[in-house]
Amino acid sequence: MARLKLATVWLGGCSGCHMSFLDLDEWLIDLAQQVDIVYSPLADIKEYPQGVDVVLVEGAIANEEHLEMIRTVRERSQILISFGDCAVTGNVTALRNPLGKAESVLQSCYIEAADIYGQIPQAPGIVPPLLDRVQQVHKVVPVDIYLLGCPPSATRIRAVLEPILQGKKPQLEGREFIKYG
Ligand code: SF4
Repeated sequence: MARLKLATVWLGGCSGCHMSFLDLDEWLIDLAQQVDIVYSPLADIKEYPQGVDVVLVEGAIANEEHLEMIRTVRERSQILISFGDCAVTGNVTALRNPLGKAESVLQSCYIEAADIYGQIPQAPGIVPPLLDRVQQVHKVVPVDIYLLGCPPSATRIRAVLEPILQGKKPQLEGREFIKYG
C-alpha cells in the first residue's frame, strides 16, 4: 500500500498544537512507518509540495503570508484538518480583532502600550503585513475535518489520524471529542 503523504502547517498559533502532536509519543513510531512527512515545521522542507494526502493546519489566518500559504495548502492537499481552536474559532490569535484594523492594533500595542521609545516594527519583505482581521481557516478555504482543543490532546489527534490511515472517516463523537479548550 502507498504511504500516505502527511503535512503539518503552522500559521497564526503558538505551536502548542504541534507540541501536542509530539505528545503522541510512541505512536509517532507507528505513524512514521505508515506516512511520509512531506512538509512540517518539524522538518526542514522549504516548499509545500503537490499531492499531499492529509494536512494538519495549526493557527488562524493573521497576516498576508498565512493567507498565501493556506491557499497553496488547500490547492495541493486532499484532506485539510483545521487543527486546534485557533484554526477553528480564531481563539487566542483573534483576541486582537476588537482593537480594530491592523493599523489600530499596531498603534495600540507598539505606541500606546510602550513605556518609552514606542515605534512600530517594520521590515518589508521580512515581517509579513498583518491582515485587518484574524480569520478562521474555514472562512478562507474549505475545511474537511475540525479538530478542537487548545491544544487538541494527543488522544484526539490520534482519533483523527488513525481512521484516516485505515481509509475511514474519523468519528469524533462524545464530549471528549467535541469540546473546545
Ligand atoms: S489552539 Fe491553543 S495550543 Fe493551539 S495554537 Fe492556538 S493557543 Fe496555541
